[in-house]
Amino acid sequence: MSTSTPLPPTPSGKHALVYGGSTAGLIAAGVLSRHFERVTLVERDRFEDGPQARKGVPQGSHIHGLLTRGMNVLCEIFPGFREELKEAGSRFIDMTGDHAWFMGGLWRPRVPCGLYFYAQSRPLLEWVLRRRLKALPNVTVRDGREVTGFQTSADKARVTGVHLRAPGGGQEETLEAELVVDASGRGSRTPQWLEALGYPRVEETNIQVDVIYSSRLFRRPPGFVADWKMMSIAPQLPTEKRMALIETIENDHLLMSIAGWHGVQPPLDDAGYIEFTRDMVQPHIYEVMKHAEPLGPIHVFRYSHNQRRHYERMPRFPEGLAPVGDAFCSFNPIYGQGMTTGALQAQTLGECVRQGLSGVSQRYRRQMGELLATPWSMATTGDLRFPHVEGKRPPGFALTNWYGDRFQRLASHDVEALHTFVRVMQMVEEPTVLFSPRLALKVLTARPTAADLERKPEPPFAPAAVKEQAA
Ligand SMILES: Cc1cc2nc3c(=O)[nH]c(=O)nc-3n(C[C@H](O)[C@H](O)[C@H](O)COP(=O)(O)OP(=O)(O)OC[C@H]3O[C@@H](n4cnc5c(N)ncnc54)[C@H](O)[C@@H]3O)c2cc1C
Repeated sequence: MSTSTPLPPTPSGKHALVYGGSTAGLIAAGVLSRHFERVTLVERDRFEDGPQARKGVPQGSHIHGLLTRGMNVLCEIFPGFREELKEAGSRFIDMTGDHAWFMGGLWRPRVPCGLYFYAQSRPLLEWVLRRRLKALPNVTVRDGREVTGFQTSADKARVTGVHLRAPGGGQEETLEAELVVDASGRGSRTPQWLEALGYPRVEETNIQVDVIYSSRLFRRPPGFVADWKMMSIAPQLPTEKRMALIETIENDHLLMSIAGWHGVQPPLDDAGYIEFTRDMVQPHIYEVMKHAEPLGPIHVFRYSHNQRRHYERMPRFPEGLAPVGDAFCSFNPIYGQGMTTGALQAQTLGECVRQGLSGVSQRYRRQMGELLATPWSMATTGDLRFPHVEGKRPPGFALTNWYGDRFQRLASHDVEALHTFVRVMQMVEEPTVLFSPRLALKVLTARPTAADLERKPEPPFAPAAVKEQAA
């Protein structure tokens, strides 16, 4: 069972304001409610009382799994969150026990690892989070309100509040706060607003991804019986440019995402959508989905580049301001790190506030330089393998890639390597564990057996299983 972080004896401040009521904002508001007498969350969209898609989160129709590390942080902030999410319909997918996973050129062994990919629709996850936040007595939610700029002290050295109004116009009002948290996502206007106040423009590193995601919800096909809850065909970068993934989510529906990189466009018509998976390196997803009934439209999301704003490098930065989540750093979605990293940022912000409000923004943004380094490198390494993608390759890049490819091959038949890789992927261990002498030796010497080469998932439409269902 999760434990909560003990409350400080007295709150550090009177009022904190968070704008952007998506995952990072909801989590940050939850953290700050422990340190401030009052917290206000401002969100541009209107919130429905239920798991509804929203205009402000266009990526919300695509697969959105929460990593184990993210869930651990959420349970610290909102004790019992794991159980609540499960009750709402989330599927807990053991990353190796419940996952038919083709990667590194082989189907991986199905040996449970005890680390989960928490699978549900993104609106469901947000709704459960929102419910928890709204239940906190010192939190006020102002939805249908858009933040339009900062209020500052006369010398502009401190952000003292925000201006807000209804989206698209209307009466403007000002809310004062000792701490303003920007959780407005990748399109955050903080860089422009700071520049207008006389601060230097924040440096940005952008690494091209150029991926198109296309997702659709399906009813389970008739007679569907499978001993997995998620199936994925991962691309071998940079040669393979297609990915396909299906996962079981609430209501026993199947959410399917396909993606194409660098000019590979997933089809948008009914027939073409499933057909895209037919001649992939493995045909299994096609075999599963060819009978499935779609439950809604095909949603498309174009993700152009990883985007990291180096607030930690700015020589001057106002006190009283902290960007979190995608507003600070947005990652190639394929590794599912975005929400977890946002949660870690919110947690760190809480720790910085705990040390006192004086200097909190400086302490926080410096710590972000360190915190973001690992997920950033995990997210961008694959993209930098495409020779035409611009960006600084770290020293030893070619050697690391060679080792990484060998490691993926090893993880396709060696359970220790597989589980170590999953711990890194789930952000519960640092990538350095992949280079332990014991694993390095295996990387250099181990070879798959004939059984490893032949391993593949059981057909999900085995005649016996269909008969069983029909009986
Ligand atoms: C296709 C795709 C798949 C992904 N899959 C995963 C996954 O499996 N796992 C994972 O962890 N991450 C995934 N991500 C990343 C994840 O979506 C983001 O990291 C996460 O949503 C970032 O949350 P956020 O709260 O910072 O910003 P956002 O989710 O972008 O939300 C910003 C919020 O701010 C509001 N807002 C904006 N401007 C204002 C304003 N001026 N005033 C008030 N409100 C404002 C918006 O309405 C919105 O609610 C995926 C991303 C994509 C594109």
